Amino acid sequence: MILNIVKYPSSILRQKCSPVQPDDQTIKKLVADMGETMYAAPGVGLAAPQVGILKRGVVIDTERNSRQKNLLVLINPNILFSEKEEVLAEEGCLSLPEVFGEVKRSRFVRVEFFDVNGQKSELSGEDFLARAFQHEIDHLNGILFIDRMSKIKRDLIKMELRKKMKQLATKG
Ligand code: ZN
Repeated sequence: MILNIVKYPSSILRQKCSPVQPDDQTIKKLVADMGETMYAAPGVGLAAPQVGILKRGVVIDTERNSRQKNLLVLINPNILFSEKEEVLAEEGCLSLPEVFGEVKRSRFVRVEFFDVNGQKSELSGEDFLARAFQHEIDHLNGILFIDRMSKIKRDLIKMELRKKMKQLATKG
């Protein structure tokens, strides 16, 4: 089922999400729907608060341009290690439609999480995947990529966003 994506400046995007409980019966359906929503958008990552659910779950597929889907589901993800070396690259977000900006992120991170079957797991990512891990985990803590930009750039992008949101509203 394709879910509605919560858009900036909704206060839902600013909440800290709660851990998913081991007996949560709704999580499998939620992450499946989140995957479907992300592919349809299309996007490379989506966090539960972006569909209005304040739980610590994210889906990522940074290989969506390749023929094969590789959906990563991370429940209660936690960054175990992040490399000191940071790289600047452009990011966007399905909750901030049509705006992009450069954000500094660690080039390499290692994350621990539970998979969709409740198995504890770990994964490392570099470059684009590392960036996706950091961007999506930020969402679970109410942080958006524009928060990690310099104030001048952030103010510019906020102006651009206000314009875009107005255009989208008048388009109906
Ligand atoms: Zn995002």
